[in-house]
Amino acid sequence: MEPILSLNNLTKKFGYLTAVKDLSFTINKGNVYGILGPNGSGKSTTLGIVLNVVNKTSGDFHWFDGNTSTHDALKQVGAIIERPNFYPYMTAEQNLKLVCKIKGVDESKIAEKLEVVGLFDRKDHKFRTYSLGMKQRLAIASALLNDPEILILDEPTNGLDPQGIHQIRQIIKDIAKDGTTILLASHLLDEVEKVCSHVVVLRKGEKLYSGRVDEMISSHGFFELKSEKHDEL
Ligand code: ADP
Ligand code: MG
Repeated sequence: MEPILSLNNLTKKFGYLTAVKDLSFTINKGNVYGILGPNGSGKSTTLGIVLNVVNKTSGDFHWFDGNTSTHDALKQVGAIIERPNFYPYMTAEQNLKLVCKIKGVDESKIAEKLEVVGLFDRKDHKFRTYSLGMKQRLAIASALLNDPEILILDEPTNGLDPQGIHQIRQIIKDIAKDGTTILLASHLLDEVEKVCSHVVVLRKGEKLYSGRVDEMISSHGFFELKSEKHDEL
């Protein structure tokens, strides 16, 4: 198994609040990982730390074999941790051309990535005319422009209508099938069940479970969790 990301007793405190506590897990290449937990359980903080936008308090994490600096490793990571933000009066394609310039990526990738997210036919439409689901799909295309080893998504279907949710989940599965490792944070058990092979379950910043999703679902402890919070963990 080829490690992509390893956390070792990672801890983050905001004043008196421990948002992430002694969190350890490893992500291996070629799987789809979920970080599952209710709002406030530390999912976004964890993603922020490994993406170098939040400072850890203690513990450690490393990318790949551990010999790559975080700065260099992040060039091989695609991430969407905020609402997609592009220039509203530019077309989807023009926006992606700009991203290519900023990232130093060849523009020849644009058509392929727009195909992956099903937006090639809408590439000449202005971003402001896109639905929220289309905006999210464009963000995914943008994050894929440099052919990352891993794609990180924070609550990728939040706010979308059922069709938009279905499309995003299908796209994530397609990307994973092509060999890209995925790490997604979600408060929805349903999302993790449908999309992920592996899961880390968080509660108040602490790991309750990590392992295969199918094993979690068949395990006794999981049903106690589920009955407590119904469909939303
Ligand atoms: P999740 O993504 O699972 O909803 P977060 O990682 O956003 O959870 O938040 C975990 C905890 O840390 C929450 O209690 C949240 O209020 C707190 N928190 C997150 N960011 C900050 C911050 N910048 N300052 C203070 N508290 C924060
Ligand atoms: Mg969050």
